[in-house]
Amino acid sequence: MVPRVPMSSPDIGDTEVQAVVETLRTPTLSIGPRLAAFERSAAAIAGVEWGVGVNSGTSGLHLCVIAAGVGDGDLVITTSFSFIASANCVLYERGVPVFVDVDPVTGNIDPHLVASAVADLTRGGAAADRWLPPALRGARRSVGRLRALLPVHAFGQPADMDPLIDTARNYDLAIIEDACEAIGAAYKERPAGSLGDAAVFAFYPNKQVTTGEGGMIVTNREAWAHLFRSLRNQGRDVFDGWLNHTRLGYNYRLDELSAALGLVQLQRLDEILAKRARVAAWYDERLAGVEWIETPRIASTTTHMSWFVYVVRILPPAQRDTVVRLLAECGIPSRPYFTPIHLQPFYREQFGYRGGEFPVTEHLGSVSLALPFSSVMTEAQVDAVCEALCDAVRRSAPLSVTGGVER
Ligand SMILES: *Cc1c(COP(=O)(O)O)cnc(C)c1O
Repeated sequence: MVPRVPMSSPDIGDTEVQAVVETLRTPTLSIGPRLAAFERSAAAIAGVEWGVGVNSGTSGLHLCVIAAGVGDGDLVITTSFSFIASANCVLYERGVPVFVDVDPVTGNIDPHLVASAVADLTRGGAAADRWLPPALRGARRSVGRLRALLPVHAFGQPADMDPLIDTARNYDLAIIEDACEAIGAAYKERPAGSLGDAAVFAFYPNKQVTTGEGGMIVTNREAWAHLFRSLRNQGRDVFDGWLNHTRLGYNYRLDELSAALGLVQLQRLDEILAKRARVAAWYDERLAGVEWIETPRIASTTTHMSWFVYVVRILPPAQRDTVVRLLAECGIPSRPYFTPIHLQPFYREQFGYRGGEFPVTEHLGSVSLALPFSSVMTEAQVDAVCEALCDAVRRSAPLSVTGGVER
């Protein structure tokens, strides 16, 4: 019998444990030397000047939205095929996330649609209306300026950034990279995190590297780096005295224990990513050519993949949701991934989405299935998952299609 297969596992060794314990024996448990070292290391990985540690990826995205100048009713273009934080961070500043559909191969934002949306939204009027959330159409007075693009590097594969960078330049928009799933990835040999005005990595325990909870903003813009340091620390400026607060800030600080853990994890990044790539290759080998299962496809612009999750597509007549249930019956976890943001109850209610607005996103949302995945997964575990998956996929198809095969 194969041991229980978890959905994900952190990859923590003795060096990490030692680093955290050593930190506990120091007098500085927040805003200390470990955070500074962790920030330098993350900035180097992204190939940029500055790193600013924060207590989650979501906090990091929020601060980037502030830096981009997003205020009441301002628009930020992103996708619905993501984790909900990619859009919520805009709402925190009372802005409006404007979703555009995604590329069917990668699930990343479609740069052609972004170019059309930006042109129409800048022009205003009826042309702009069709890009807005249903509840805001015909209500242009409540809509502010278009400020930023927020592409997501879904599943660890960079979005097609060059055309987005062109569009942003032409219309003077900021680019915030949601690189929370893509640390160590590269787009045309350029590191994820170096492609926009600022980018965010996340370190929740299911991410490639973890600090428990944590995030990191990386940027080449010095003024933004200073702003981020102030905003994460209750609005204190570097030159402020003790308890002097220049602006409205937050407690988004990352503690030294997390930073110590993160620093060791980053030192092991290449090793961890190589192990994840090996697990992905095991899956690919076993699932290639299996009827009604489509394995992940990597775009030619992705010169280095940072495997975050292994997501297959379960194609009709097989039934994704039935597959989830059948796998669960064998004790194997799996997750529909992503559930589109615009179909989440809160977004339906706030913005009037009803389904049908983003066909590619909704299709991917209905067929995508994340399988158990981590750097510490064994080949035997991958075997067990694949056997159960192939069986579940066959049994999930209606009888009429399988020609009455016993289920
Ligand atoms: C993980 C993740 C985040 C941030 O998550 P936190 O839990 O706040 O660290 C943001 N966007 C995407 C796409 C993510 O996968």
